[in-house]
Amino acid sequence: MSLLANDPKRKTWLDIPDNTDFPIQNIPFGVFLTRDDIITIGTRIGDYAIDLGALHQLGYFEGIPLTDDIFLQDTLNDFIADGRKTWRSVRNRIAEIFDANNDKLKNNKDHCKTVLFKLDEIEMQMPVQVGDYTDFYSSKEHATNVGKMFRDPENALLPNWLHIPVGYHGRSSSIIPSGIPVHRPQGQKLPKGADEPIFGPSRLVDFELEMAFITTAANHLGQAIPIDEAENNIFGMVIFNDWSARDIQKWEYVPLGPFLAKSFASSISPWIVTLDALEPFRTESPKPIKPLLPYLKSKDNKKSFDINLEVGITPKNSTETVVSHTNFKYMYWNMSQQLSHHTVNGCPVNSGDMMASGTISGPTPDSYGSMLELSWRGEKPLKLNDGTERKFIEDHDTVTMRGFCQNHEVRIGFGEVSTKLLPVFKDK
Ligand code: CA
Repeated sequence: MSLLANDPKRKTWLDIPDNTDFPIQNIPFGVFLTRDDIITIGTRIGDYAIDLGALHQLGYFEGIPLTDDIFLQDTLNDFIADGRKTWRSVRNRIAEIFDANNDKLKNNKDHCKTVLFKLDEIEMQMPVQVGDYTDFYSSKEHATNVGKMFRDPENALLPNWLHIPVGYHGRSSSIIPSGIPVHRPQGQKLPKGADEPIFGPSRLVDFELEMAFITTAANHLGQAIPIDEAENNIFGMVIFNDWSARDIQKWEYVPLGPFLAKSFASSISPWIVTLDALEPFRTESPKPIKPLLPYLKSKDNKKSFDINLEVGITPKNSTETVVSHTNFKYMYWNMSQQLSHHTVNGCPVNSGDMMASGTISGPTPDSYGSMLELSWRGEKPLKLNDGTERKFIEDHDTVTMRGFCQNHEVRIGFGEVSTKLLPVFKDK
């Protein structure tokens, strides 16, 4: 099915800001609470949230095989399970409904009132119920930086890293949408020079700038997903902040990897941008340094995407300082390799599963994706606009991550994931 929704010449009859992340060519999917306290599945064009449940009830999706309640749900899991053909039909239809040359909905004021919301009338929710969450470690720059700091500068990358998209199974219960604050975690830490750990608040709370992809029900137990079919099973992407407590992490991570240093919270941008919308921004991954095993080799080299990313820190009662600019295209391992590797042993993947990329660090010090790297373990504090310095994240700081793709015809963005760090949780 052709991606009619991607036509860069298409304009909408909705009044939308110039340079929005959400032109009519984007058509992301999300879940929101309406002004009437109803949860619905929706999309976004410009600064309008559009109630797809209401549009469906009013007959605007006639001819597309959808169950009556497919959009009247509090997650996108069932819609995603319907598969790529359905996602494409719905996205194409939404493009038609809001096309400047189509005044069917435009001229029906009652219908407009029912389906259109201003952003301040809604509250974004988690777009999917995440059954399983996996975090990869796929940026060579990040893995090298961390290896230099924590192990051996001469052998920063472990021998398996250039052969395997390294990952671990994370916790889905603490994945939250943008806007929900996170409390500073407590845990065990080993003070410098000590032999025994102490317990207390993490002093080294950090962000990790990542992107995550969301899958459909992809395979059966025992069945692997071939690399060239992987993208058929990927619905779309969000920006992902993998909150990390470096002092807890350092003490606990040997031998089985991250645990409580990561599972206290991960924040996502609430609109899932489809892989289809990102199609004009395909690009090649970096050239493999070691020969790849056949199951990680795809026929088409353009399996990555050119997505500009940035991170800002806003202290309490202050303004934002952007501390990092990077790009998703720097990732050594791409999503197809990650998904085919994840399933090569026969592990089933379900609708709504979330797989994060790992911290996205670029080649230069201003393109690193964590404070650990930006401040080089605290040795080089960052100066903020208000004159204060940061080695890691302080209480009441807000961390905001943004991402967008841009060419000479169209901009497709993700909006942002913005999260405030609060002090340790206290029962009232
Ligand atoms: Ca991570």
